[in-house]
Amino acid sequence: MTLSETEALELDAADPGHRELFDVPPAQGGDYPEVAYFAGNSLGLRPKATRSELLEDLDSWAALGVEGHLDAARPWLPYHELLTGPASRLVGALPSETVVMNTLTVNLHLLMVSFYRPTRSRHRIVIEDSAFPSDSYAVRSQVEFHGYDAEDAVIRLRPRPGENSLRTADVVEQLGGDVALVLLGGVNYLTGELMDIPTITKAGHAAGAIVGWDLAHAAGNVPLALHDWDVDFAAWCSYKYLNSGPGAIAGAFVHERHLGADLPRFEGWWSTDAKTRFEMTPESRPPATADAWQVSNPPIFSMSPVRTSLEIFDKVGIEVLRERSVRLTAYLSNLLDGFEVITPTDPARRGAQLSVRVPGAGELSRRLRFEYGVIADSREPDVLRFAPVPLYSTYHDCWRAGTALAEVTA
Ligand SMILES: *Cc1c(COP(=O)(O)O)cnc(C)c1O
Repeated sequence: MTLSETEALELDAADPGHRELFDVPPAQGGDYPEVAYFAGNSLGLRPKATRSELLEDLDSWAALGVEGHLDAARPWLPYHELLTGPASRLVGALPSETVVMNTLTVNLHLLMVSFYRPTRSRHRIVIEDSAFPSDSYAVRSQVEFHGYDAEDAVIRLRPRPGENSLRTADVVEQLGGDVALVLLGGVNYLTGELMDIPTITKAGHAAGAIVGWDLAHAAGNVPLALHDWDVDFAAWCSYKYLNSGPGAIAGAFVHERHLGADLPRFEGWWSTDAKTRFEMTPESRPPATADAWQVSNPPIFSMSPVRTSLEIFDKVGIEVLRERSVRLTAYLSNLLDGFEVITPTDPARRGAQLSVRVPGAGELSRRLRFEYGVIADSREPDVLRFAPVPLYSTYHDCWRAGTALAEVTA
């Protein structure tokens, strides 16, 4: 289906996002000054406020030195607490269940220390076969750390032959009594499939397993209700849909029913209760909150962009964003008619990503960038990913992507 450029511009006028809050890079090719950016599922764009607010935090250091811990406009000692509220609202959690710390894979490890407690009869971990490699390496190394064989212990879920996504019923069927941990991506990084998190979580619990979710591609993309869905734990990064910059500080969730429980954790001085931290006692007194999973004092200048970005999500609201996301993705989907899109067609089973299977994806993504100013990324061997991000992508961006892809593959 081809839609006119005028129609795209009319849709933008009727259904605008919040592009004005972001710095959109200049295009290196094509007819328009700015790129049509579809890589927000890899690295989100920078909010304009990030620069000035980060500089404010940096200047507190210049002005106050060590006194900034307490006297900075945003004091460093409790700085991470500024992020807890907005992060918890974004993932549907209680503030006590949420903490912003470390990076994603580190958080997965710290959470598996608590929640992957294998026994001889129950030591298997279920992931997707198309899991992001970091998750695959993390679970294999956890299995081996506990003295089990990763080849045997890690169950990799594959779609049925000829299909591209996992069926919920097939996932549920594979959750047997030997499964210690189910650790799936909420939205798959490659196909863009949104999993049925509540149903799979419930099924995992019925099988006696712990259920954790990697929300790297789900946080800031789709509404989540981690508390109500009874998820045991979750972790996510902040540089994809959360627009907090390369390597940004990540998030973690631990369900209320595990808080204060007698679970193993790897501790450091930030694991102990903030109120008594500076008594410098040899043993920690961890609070009954997700803060107990912290280890080190947090990197303030890496937290600052996360704080700025989460404020945008708080202001706009993930439900409102999701509605625009469904409309924008449907529009792009129309434009990609005729291509092999491996993302589910049902809007309820996908977020803001469409993955196209096309030969020579790597070369195509280079041509899209340098000849059309369209930024999409490729994944070996043959997948091009387009993420129309509801905060800053436009219908006109989608129109540019659709027409450019048709031309480079003609
Ligand atoms: C992006 C992504 C990661 C990246 O891990 P880091 O620890 O942030 O480098 C891990 N897992 C998934 C599913 C991802 O999408």
